[in-house]
Amino acid sequence: MELLTIGAFARAVRLSPKALRLYDELGLLTPARVDPLSGYRLYSPDQVERARLVAWLRRLGMPLARIRGVCELAPEDAAAEVRAYWAQVEADTAARRSLASSLVEQLTGKDTTMTLALRYALRTDRGLVRDSNQDAGYASERLLAVADGFGARGEPVSTLAVDTIARLDTAIPAGELLNALADAVRQAGTAVEEYLSADPADEGSGTTLTAVVLSGSRLGLVHVGDARVYLLRGGRLFRITHDHTAVRSLIAEGRLTEEEAVSHPRRSLLVRALHGRAVEPDLALHDALPGDRYLLCSDGLHTVVPEESLREVLVAEREPEEATRRLVGLANAGGGPDNVVCVVADVVAN
Ligand code: MN
Repeated sequence: MELLTIGAFARAVRLSPKALRLYDELGLLTPARVDPLSGYRLYSPDQVERARLVAWLRRLGMPLARIRGVCELAPEDAAAEVRAYWAQVEADTAARRSLASSLVEQLTGKDTTMTLALRYALRTDRGLVRDSNQDAGYASERLLAVADGFGARGEPVSTLAVDTIARLDTAIPAGELLNALADAVRQAGTAVEEYLSADPADEGSGTTLTAVVLSGSRLGLVHVGDARVYLLRGGRLFRITHDHTAVRSLIAEGRLTEEEAVSHPRRSLLVRALHGRAVEPDLALHDALPGDRYLLCSDGLHTVVPEESLREVLVAEREPEEATRRLVGLANAGGGPDNVVCVVADVVAN
């Protein structure tokens, strides 16, 4: 096959030679050949498709590492990856939109939010393999929390973390929501640290902590670890937390695909948790709408039950109680390899 000069190739793919040189430097599109004497880049006509894909993905705002990953996938898997990326962008944008309107309200002194409440059910289960349950949870009309303890002292510290965050179960002005959550998670971290420092043998224990607090029509979210928060809105299921796991970081860097992550031997290795060191939680603000349904769950549910099954149950079951019962049932039907805690809560007008 005859190779094209960078100029001819640039014209064929409607990109500038400058862009092509950048793609090469970033490892997104390596020329078929680089002339050893002149240093000119030469491209093969069958690289046209990849060059165009790279250009479109960059226009979409996808991070470079992730583009590199998508380019290595078969078209069907690449499509799934683009879909997943875009769902995440929409969820993140919604959270930032909510933060922006909350700030506008604070700055103008206008609070236009309506009062909403949560109709909830909480369920936790040991599973079929573990001999104890180290997951803990809390649910009320305005606060939902789940924690997944690990290590020898996983159980007391998960409960400790949940109890600390449960102090927020009181009316908090929307403008103070994120600060209150940040303070509470810091206090939870300190409580866990103090508890574990009493005995050196407790090193290696810790807990995840994920909670949402409703104030008016704002929902503040705090998250450390690999429990998840899903939002069911209009029949679609959105994951609104990012797992703090080593494989998640690898996926973000483009070094691992979603498919590889599912069977990765160290897939649940946490990069962030409460276990005694300073921790940087994710904080976000979302708009709550009547009719929204939230699911908070530990990895004992979301690593065993596929998202489509989670969605089916959340759509089908009217009562939160029944939904949690079926979700735990699915985890145990899938072998029940881990403890499960899950909360299903509907946003209702108060
Ligand atoms: Mn777990």
